[in-house]
Amino acid sequence: MRIGVLTSGGDAPGMNATIRAIVRTGIASGDQVFGISDGYRGLVEGKIVEFTRKDVSEILSRGGTILGTARLPEFKYEQVRALACKQLEKYDIDSLIVIGGDGTYTGALRLHEMGIKTIGIPGTIDNDIASTDYTIGFSTALNTACEAIDKLRDTSSSHQRCSIIEVMGRHCGDLALYSGLCCGAEYIITNETGLDKEKLLKDLKSNRLAGRRHAIVVISENITDVHQLAKDVEAYSGYECRATVLGYVQRGGAPTPEDRLLAARLGKYAVDLLHEGVTGVAVGIRQNELRYTPIEEALIMQNETSVELANLVKKIS
Ligand code: ADP
Repeated sequence: MRIGVLTSGGDAPGMNATIRAIVRTGIASGDQVFGISDGYRGLVEGKIVEFTRKDVSEILSRGGTILGTARLPEFKYEQVRALACKQLEKYDIDSLIVIGGDGTYTGALRLHEMGIKTIGIPGTIDNDIASTDYTIGFSTALNTACEAIDKLRDTSSSHQRCSIIEVMGRHCGDLALYSGLCCGAEYIITNETGLDKEKLLKDLKSNRLAGRRHAIVVISENITDVHQLAKDVEAYSGYECRATVLGYVQRGGAPTPEDRLLAARLGKYAVDLLHEGVTGVAVGIRQNELRYTPIEEALIMQNETSVELANLVKKIS
């Protein structure tokens, strides 16, 4: 087979490990593997080169993506995707593996509908693809968030402060939920829990009156202006309060062993599925087993793990 691979949307640690797994397992199966730079934009522009085993040496432990990533909103137009199909035809590439999040999956689905054999691999720190228990990059981002929250807890305790920490996740609360649980946050606010500001302020005030030295509030991005929230907490609760936005630091760094393992397993699985003639699917891991799901289903599935953890938060925080 002649397989193209691209990374698209937000980058995530472990994308390189996934590219390596695809190239190495593809070549071992007698395939030719082509790297496509800068996501769908590079595909449309024909930024395509064949990869050797050596081209993916020493990238396993590197964050980011050697292929680069880019956003191309115009990919929603059929005439733009037709240009992508032409490039694939020009290079005689018969199958495409895309690594990214739900936007990337939507692009893959549209290509599949146009007759391109396509497989999606979940590569995003947000863990917002419900057809897999974990996305590649989530473990690393979680580690980064936990390390930062632990450090903020140390200084918050010394100064008797309340710390509000905004983590990424786009519209998915998993990063906040998992990092909040792992770091013993007093409050975890996600899209799923919603923000009851009045209750939060009252709770923090009673905590302060009860003599608790600090409070950690972990909140997902895109919920509220955390700097304004910190001002309101300070005005009402008696705590000095600081907001910290962890931001893009969560996207970088060497992937954790969990992300490297997931990358290797899903990369090989995608190549194997193409050999079996399975396309138009998203691969993932569920209860530690490799699974595939039609992309259109993957895009609408609900994440059940989050519901279980959200219930745990109510009991443990
Ligand atoms: P992610 O894959 O991380 O969710 P984006 O939402 O930015 O990231 O999507 C990545 C790319 O996928 C977009 O820049 C675009 O090229 C493509 N894409 C997103 N939505 C669609 C769509 N509705 N139709 C076709 N392509 C899309």
